Amino acid sequence: MFSHTNPLHQDVFQSVARFEGEVVAMTAALFGSKDKSSGGQICGNMTSGGTESILLAVKTSRDYMRMKKGITRPEMIIAESAHSAYDKAAQYFNIIVRRVPVDEEYKADVRKTKHCINKNTIMIIGSAPGFPHGVIDPIEALGALASSYDICFHVDLCLGGFVLPFARKLGYPIPPFDFSVKGVTSMSADVHKYGLGPKGTSVVLYRNHEIRKNQFVAVTEWTGGLYVSPTIAGSRPGGLIAGAWAAMMSLGEEGYLDNTKQIMEVSKRIQKGIQDIPELHIIGKPDMTVIAFGSNVVDIFEVNDIMSSKGWHLNALQKPNSLHICVTLQHVPAADNFLQDLKESVDTGESESRTDQWRACTNIWCCREDARQGSGAGLVSRVHGWKLLGHGLVT
Ligand SMILES: *Cc1c(COP(=O)(O)O)cnc(C)c1O
Repeated sequence: MFSHTNPLHQDVFQSVARFEGEVVAMTAALFGSKDKSSGGQICGNMTSGGTESILLAVKTSRDYMRMKKGITRPEMIIAESAHSAYDKAAQYFNIIVRRVPVDEEYKADVRKTKHCINKNTIMIIGSAPGFPHGVIDPIEALGALASSYDICFHVDLCLGGFVLPFARKLGYPIPPFDFSVKGVTSMSADVHKYGLGPKGTSVVLYRNHEIRKNQFVAVTEWTGGLYVSPTIAGSRPGGLIAGAWAAMMSLGEEGYLDNTKQIMEVSKRIQKGIQDIPELHIIGKPDMTVIAFGSNVVDIFEVNDIMSSKGWHLNALQKPNSLHICVTLQHVPAADNFLQDLKESVDTGESESRTDQWRACTNIWCCREDARQGSGAGLVSRVHGWKLLGHGLVT
């Protein structure tokens, strides 16, 4: 019904403008906007996804810091576990990125981050949780650091935004992650992940309008008339905004609480099951529903291939080589099958790995061929020198 609407023309499509406002307000309310400590001025926009939310938060922080502190050669500091969307933002917006290794718990290292701050630093980032290992960074400590240097601090809730507030309500031990934390200037949360909205929906939020106004583009001299656009896209899909609103309204707090309870419980079960496989170990201490695991005994990417042949699609990670599963409602009835298949794959991988040492090198070429055919994602499994691939993936 809303598929031909466009919030660029707010006056024409008033209900879509209202849907966007309500999605933003409902999301903000999950992250402490009603709390006194938030300052009561949280504002934001809907975007096409986590990447656009992050691009906007970075661009806004850059321009806010230029306005406020006169920084013209911007740098940002991110943990190695932060999403690659920050590299994308840095490449698009001419910002130097300093990537800092994570600490022994796979969290952003506050001390090392502090070391990297200089007069050109515009922002730091914390993920709640990070995509690779599902571990929440020390948001309070990073917030204190950011506010002591008067720089921006973005909290990446793309993955955790529609789980953590509910997990906390259910009694899980979730450390502070929202606008109640001093120093947080912006946040991103994906409605199209655990918010269960249609693909192409996310929210970017700011502490106040003073910061957010740096996100907008206003052109006054165009022959096409006065043009004001809040996000990267000009025309925007009203249908997706309506879809996100419908998803949130139909689930409601009860729906999200119920979903979160199920996926948190099954995540704990899967975690326990992985721990019971002696060849595997969990990476870090998962705070939510992403569980990363590796092995000192079997080639974990070989295990991934065998799991693929059984119909499972796991993400391959590096530094250290590992896999992760992002647990969703689909896994609730399938957890036992998953663990059974994983155990079998480890056993098979263990016996096979003794015989085929030569494979790793030939696979680089398989990957390059795959990449040319456009299936860039998820093909990296067995290649050990990923750096070599960077070039091949974009040619
Ligand atoms: C998914 C994700 C992103 C990027 O979001 P897209 O919707 O894929 O653009 C950024 N950060 C984290 C932590 C994520 O999980």
